[in-house]
Amino acid sequence: MPEFLRLTRPIWPAAAILAVTAAAVWLAPPLPASLAGLSTAGPYAVLVTAVGLAWWYNRGRTLVVAVSILLGWSLYAHDSQKLVYTVLVILVPLNCLAVLLARERGARYGPAYRWLGLIALEGLAVLWLDSAGKGYAESLLGHWSLRSPPTPLAGRLAFAAAFAAAAWRSYPEHRPLQVAKMGAIAAFFIGSEWGQEPAVFAAFMTAAGAILIVAMLQESHQLAFHDELTGLPGRRALDERLRALGSRYALAMIDVDHFKKFNDTHGHDIGDQVLKLVAGRLAQVGGGGIAYRYGGEEFSVLFPDSGRDAAMVHLTELRRSIESYRMAVRGEDRPKDPQEAAKLRGTRTAQQTLSVTVSIGVADPSDERRTPAQVLKAADEALYRAKQAGRNRVSR
Ligand code: GH3
Ligand code: MG
Ligand code: MG
Repeated sequence: MPEFLRLTRPIWPAAAILAVTAAAVWLAPPLPASLAGLSTAGPYAVLVTAVGLAWWYNRGRTLVVAVSILLGWSLYAHDSQKLVYTVLVILVPLNCLAVLLARERGARYGPAYRWLGLIALEGLAVLWLDSAGKGYAESLLGHWSLRSPPTPLAGRLAFAAAFAAAAWRSYPEHRPLQVAKMGAIAAFFIGSEWGQEPAVFAAFMTAAGAILIVAMLQESHQLAFHDELTGLPGRRALDERLRALGSRYALAMIDVDHFKKFNDTHGHDIGDQVLKLVAGRLAQVGGGGIAYRYGGEEFSVLFPDSGRDAAMVHLTELRRSIESYRMAVRGEDRPKDPQEAAKLRGTRTAQQTLSVTVSIGVADPSDERRTPAQVLKAADEALYRAKQAGRNRVSR
């Protein structure tokens, strides 16, 4: 994949949703009168779903962002006049900013109810300003920072700060849900810039909710199919791939040698680092092999287009590269403070160089073993033979 496409990949879903929304709003013909209700019900349906999923997935910041936008939408749907509009396009990004600066503490178990209480109070305050406090509020609207249209300066500043905070949070990992908050905040801002057009405002509130929903689904898919520690696809991904194979392939099972002893000697934390480094080597296996973390310190490599003998060549090369790999790992009690750590560099707690070996069993389909499950079992048996024969070898 070209570098540019790879770098921009995290923002594709949000960018696509925003592009489709813009096209629907500015290029497509308006909705027929019979469907006009959709532009009110649509944002509610999508934003309530986003709120529900954030709750379900225990995502505290996402919950607050979704609830704020939902509040903004309901206030706007209640009264889209200048007063309510001005207050909501400032409050919603401020809520997002505040929660992005706060620590993620979950939605279901953490103190998210305090945030929800705050947002409910904001809603009541706006309703009060819109009724009893109207005279007072309208005198404020003349202030230069609150003057609209479209978005008042105070709203634009709040938006810029919230967007910057979301960008900061999505760096350097670019996790879907963090990137999506930038997208949702941007969608809210575009909607507020066209706040005098209810159909446009409604469409972009829907887009904001959709961006959050897609990212939550993306994350849960990643959690199910990817192994967090090593970054390799997990067992579920292997099971899925095995179902789609042709008649010629080879499957290898790989187990780290004496890893229990390794853990006992160096600690579980260093064990984890070593698994990560070994996984890095596995991911580079040649011959079109795809590496998976099968579970614990066991991995699989699938060669979707080669037979067993061709796979053996690449697996032998892999085994050698792991055997000769000197892994630099950090000690467990290394101080977090960089200055303290620098003092200790080169001593006991600084870097250690460790190495491990792996045993590999490989099998391919034949007359006796037709199904992937049978091939996997054969690879497991071959792995057992590799261990019996003294470890650090490839068996078939
Ligand atoms: P063998 O050469 O026969 O494979 O010996 P072994 O000690 O590696 O035996 P086995 O494969 O049964 O050991 C699995 C050990 O791997 C148990 C556990 O301590 C360790 N282990 C499994 N998963 C993880 C993990 O995620 N992190 C760490 N640090 N250790 C793990
Ligand atoms: Mg094992
Ligand atoms: Mg082992």
